[in-house]
Amino acid sequence: MADIEYKGSCVCGQTAYVAFDLSDVSFCHCQQCRKMTGHYMAACQAQRDKITISGEIKWHYTHEGSRHGFCENCGAHMFWQNDTRPTISVTAGSLDDSKGLGVRHHVFIEEKSCYYEINANEPQFEGYGNSKTKRGE
Ligand SMILES: [Zn+2]
Ligand SMILES: [Zn+2]
Repeated sequence: MADIEYKGSCVCGQTAYVAFDLSDVSFCHCQQCRKMTGHYMAACQAQRDKITISGEIKWHYTHEGSRHGFCENCGAHMFWQNDTRPTISVTAGSLDDSKGLGVRHHVFIEEKSCYYEINANEPQFEGYGNSKTKRGE
């Protein structure tokens, strides 16, 4: 599965990226992601040295070190990154072709809204899932 190339772009076409070896899709149900996306976050992780971005990005910090990136022109939500980590996440919806990708996990499920349900077969964690808070075991 090495070196699979993924391309993504915004609505207007000004911002685009090419990434290799994306992770499966992580869903974040935290309040910041819900407000930033209008629903909840769906994103795939790449190592920063495995992605090339073109176009102008407008970054917005939701809290220290944590920022969301948007196409400066059309406003499409494209990226998320934590400045302390060597990775960047691309929104699943920005992928031109999500070939082969599946569901990785759901995080911050304690902050999810009540109007939808998470598929019980998919891994779910409170917070980032670092501690022993995994549900459904
Ligand atoms: Zn755009
Ligand atoms: Zn979040």
